[in-house]
Amino acid sequence: MRKDRGMSPRRNHPKGRKPKHEEREIGSSGEAIEEFAEGIYRVRRITGSSSTKPYRCPGCDQMIPMATPHTVAWIEDDVESRRHWHNACWNKRAHRAPRTERTRNAPRY
Ligand SMILES: [Zn+2]
Repeated sequence: MRKDRGMSPRRNHPKGRKPKHEEREIGSSGEAIEEFAEGIYRVRRITGSSSTKPYRCPGCDQMIPMATPHTVAWIEDDVESRRHWHNACWNKRAHRAPRTERTRNAPRY
């Protein structure tokens, strides 16, 4: 229990929304989970309309122009590892990996 003196409690300091872009993206829809030798990846398919910046694909080292549907993948525990891939490059990578890939939607928390 807190003592409350009843004098002007400071409760209405303005809380701006946190400018965290990642949080806005996650949770809206279809993330897949794919397992690779180096870890578990979360994989998202980006539509052209939600791609507003060009990115460099680590698979072929070429740019992915904006408004191009592509794939975003990152190691589940490491958001810093997030990369944008051409769909074809990601698929190639997935096929190269020895692990079986599978998709599940159940959140792990
Ligand atoms: Zn590529």
